[in-house]
Amino acid sequence: MTEQDCLFCKIVNGDINADIVFENDSLIAFRDINPKAPTHVLLIPREHIATMNDLEDGHDTLAGELFLTAARIAADEGLADDGYRVVMNCNAAAGQSVFHIHLHLLGGRTMGWPPG
Ligand code: 5GP
Ligand code: ZN
Repeated sequence: MTEQDCLFCKIVNGDINADIVFENDSLIAFRDINPKAPTHVLLIPREHIATMNDLEDGHDTLAGELFLTAARIAADEGLADDGYRVVMNCNAAAGQSVFHIHLHLLGGRTMGWPPG
């Protein structure tokens, strides 16, 4: 998968439309096209990073910003008190299907644990 073929790079570039809930210079957050909960937002860096294994020392601020932004969106969506879940799947065994890292923000229903 090259960056040219990457679905989420196409969302970053505006080649594919998405329901964007927040964006800044480093990241974009948009609603999942096939939501697994009443609120299901994906937070992605603008930079193409294929998997969590590809995070490097220079990505520490970016990684933190993904989590901070997820918490702020959760609050905006009214999820902060009841609770919500953030998940990043890495590679096939975890179910990663798009190889541009994304933090799932899920909320609005009760979740089971452990996840499947
Ligand atoms: P993964 O399985 O890689 O952790 O999650 C990929 C997520 O991307 C899935 O929840 C899937 O529904 C979502 N997704 C796949 N294609 C699109 C798309 O074109 N637009 C949006 N908004 N979400 C997508
Ligand atoms: Zn990409």
